[in-house]
Amino acid sequence: MKPAITTAISSLALTLLLAPVQAMAAEPADMIISNAKVLTIDSERHMYPQGTVVVRDGRIIAVGDASVADDYTSATVIDAGGDIVMPGMINGHNHLSMSVYRGVRSTKEHPGLYNFFFPLEAKTLNRDLIRVSAREAAIESALAGVTTVTDMYYHEDEVARAVSEVGIRGVLGETVINFPVVDAPQPYGGYEYARKFIHDWKGNELITPAVAPHANYSVSVEWLRKCRELAEAEGVPYLIHLAETDTERARMEKDLGVEFNGRTVVKYLEDENVLGPSMIAAHVIFVDDDDIQILKKHGVGVSHNPKANGSRFSPSWRMYQRDLDVGLGTDGPLGVSKMDIFGQIAYAKQAAHSFGDPNTDTPYDWVYMATMGGARAINKADELGSLEVGKKADIIIVDTDTPNMQPQFDPYWQIAFSTYPSNVVTTIVNGKFVVRDHKIQNVDLKKHYAELEPIADKVQAFGLEM
Ligand SMILES: [Zn+2]
Repeated sequence: MKPAITTAISSLALTLLLAPVQAMAAEPADMIISNAKVLTIDSERHMYPQGTVVVRDGRIIAVGDASVADDYTSATVIDAGGDIVMPGMINGHNHLSMSVYRGVRSTKEHPGLYNFFFPLEAKTLNRDLIRVSAREAAIESALAGVTTVTDMYYHEDEVARAVSEVGIRGVLGETVINFPVVDAPQPYGGYEYARKFIHDWKGNELITPAVAPHANYSVSVEWLRKCRELAEAEGVPYLIHLAETDTERARMEKDLGVEFNGRTVVKYLEDENVLGPSMIAAHVIFVDDDDIQILKKHGVGVSHNPKANGSRFSPSWRMYQRDLDVGLGTDGPLGVSKMDIFGQIAYAKQAAHSFGDPNTDTPYDWVYMATMGGARAINKADELGSLEVGKKADIIIVDTDTPNMQPQFDPYWQIAFSTYPSNVVTTIVNGKFVVRDHKIQNVDLKKHYAELEPIADKVQAFGLEM
């Protein structure tokens, strides 16, 4: 059933007016969500079949069964009509601004990343493309119930602007890489850009600015250490593509002069003092059991992006079983196209089973990975990832009154395996509506598409020319 949202005085408040004088006064709240199947994803796995969530000043102030609603009054009462209410999903790894490149030149044979995409990026990237295209992907993310995106790209201040406009959260890393790029004419020029970006955006309610050394094969250990030190000094994360391909060891030896002496990439980085709890590592595919222990010892957060990992899966399920901080991510839209986390879960299950672990996972595990696991991976477990008193009010409502959601035996199963992004009715971030009844709230879509169209036209024209 579609949730009815009332903005007039709630019937609850009216009842209180008529109640005997000795009745306890209801506490004021900014929002009450009632008649909901509430999945809290708290440490005790509380689930309330007829639940209530109460929000004030951007935070959750009460969660519980139907009776909790009696203690509060609010001008905004959402009757969820039995729909699922759960924490917003966390995307652990993305490049939002690449959304405008989706399907470019798809009618022609694709000559590959180095021969086609990097030159196309070099020809077309600018501040406007980065901002408007990031806005597009942030809108799509919000509509799909993603309340926090983790991103690595260039001109990350433009991404920050776009994500803020839409009204979701971002952990946004400015890229540092060993060759000149659009916002840094010198190799590693992104480092200075990142310092300024972090300085300008630190303390923002929605944005966590970060530094993003691109990968272990495209950044020297000296610069990796500098990025780690900058992140730790500023109290922000550092984001990296880690152990992603089987060819990167050869590239590290050739381009960066690395001598492995029989060590793995992870062991080498440990010896070079690059690993730490502020690291958010994407992919983490070419790792063995010892590497997993090393990552755990250093508290490295991992974004598992199974749909993007075409050639080989990451053993992220093993990491999850060993209680590492593992969340789910999409990676950039160029490769996987869609920006929702629901679509990652079937691939994540497939990835788990490819390591010979069939049937050790439950639907709860995948919902946890998409929410609380992601919050742990980005070092925000204290604030995000579950519906608990004191946490930020990042909440989604998922429609269960559609054919794909029947029968309704297990809400965790429904979320993990049955839900389409279009089942997300409402997305709330920081206690504010970002999506309400499937409609984006903070962006004028007409204006947005008027800005996006000429940018996309230019991308396609260049793409076809090349
Ligand atoms: Zn990536």
